[in-house]
Amino acid sequence: MLTWKNIEHFVKNGVPAPENKVIKTEEEWKQLLSDDVFFITRQSGTEHAFSSEMCSRFEPGIYACACCGTLLFDASEKFDSRSGWPSFTQPLKENTIAYTADTTHMMTRIEVTCNCCDAHLGHVFPDGPKPSGLRYCINSLSLKKE
Ligand code: FE
Repeated sequence: MLTWKNIEHFVKNGVPAPENKVIKTEEEWKQLLSDDVFFITRQSGTEHAFSSEMCSRFEPGIYACACCGTLLFDASEKFDSRSGWPSFTQPLKENTIAYTADTTHMMTRIEVTCNCCDAHLGHVFPDGPKPSGLRYCINSLSLKKE
């Protein structure tokens, strides 16, 4: 189980290499994705809070990267954060999500991206539920339910 200590380590040292790397040009992603998914995942956009009913759905299943299909989160790790964005307390695997310090908007936050295709997913915070204490706050547009 990952905790905030692991996240701090990952920001400094990176995560283990992904099983595969998906590299496309911005133009190729634009062709492939809808405009709103392109804006969130390739231009680090943020969707409006409570814009998706994915926030309040907890059926079993796996959530994958909207760009490359890498499996990212299991529904069993999803919880109701009341933040307006789908929230998870653990990733499926250690090497599928990358962590970067994000100092935009006058804050220091930890940005999370898909480690396979570099899609912007959202941020991770240390105020999640026990035992891990992690809250992955993820744009619903950067996920697709498998
Ligand atoms: Fe991806």
